Parts: sequence; structure tokens; C-alpha cells
Amino acid sequence: MMSAAVSTLSGPRQIADSARGTVPAPVARPIFRERRCPECGAAFSPAVYNQLFCASPHKLLFERRLAKRGFKLTALAMAARQTRDGTRGDVETGRWAARETRRLLQLWADDDREAGRPSAVEYVSLRKRLGLHD
Ligand SMILES: [Zn+2]
Repeated sequence: MMSAAVSTLSGPRQIADSARGTVPAPVARPIFRERRCPECGAAFSPAVYNQLFCASPHKLLFERRLAKRGFKLTALAMAARQTRDGTRGDVETGRWAARETRRLLQLWADDDREAGRPSAVEYVSLRKRLGLHD
């Protein structure tokens, strides 16, 4: 025979209230300011202070795209910088790298806008505000 289900967990913590006897203690859950998901642009309320995305699949999609972009951009941006945009050293390569860097950055900014994603400025600002940039 089955016994009645009895929870072994204690119920809500009780605190004394001189006027009303005992009342449940308020659950201490900090409220974080609403923010926009860098992947879908939707507003959401983070559960923890450093939550950047509305859902983990969006974090994965965003990070994959960022990694692909970074793979293409890093060497170009470094070549552009090291030649001061093609004004020193290998001028031809430096100019091309600078042009290609600007072209890709504009292309990706346009892609983000068309997809309804917040700008890179908003993403970097949020990470900086939360102390996640190192
Ligand atoms: Zn999202």
C-alpha cells in the first residue's frame, strides 16, 4: 500500500511578524535590469547578472558567428595595422588588408542590422558594463 506523499523538504522559511504571527520569508532573488539578446534582439530579464543571451542556443549561434568572423578578420586587421593601412612596409598588402577589413566590418554590421541583432557597440558596451571584458 502506498503511503501519502510526504515531502521531506521543509516549507518556506517562516519569520516572526509581531502583528500577524509568522509569515513566509521573502525569497531573496535579485532583479537584474532587462537587456537585449545579442543574437535575436529580444528583451529578456536575466536570471544571473552575467547572462547575456535569452537562451543557450542563441549564445551558441552568436559565438559560432563571432568565431567565424574573427577567423577571417584577425590576420587582415593585424596586417592593416602593422602597415598602418598600407602606408609602411608592404604597401600593397597593407592597403588591401585595410580595405578588406573595412569591407567585412561593414558587411557584418549590415547583416546584423538586417537580422535584427543589436549592434556590436551595444554588445561590447554590455560586456564592458558587466565587467566581462578582460
Ligand atoms: Zn535570443
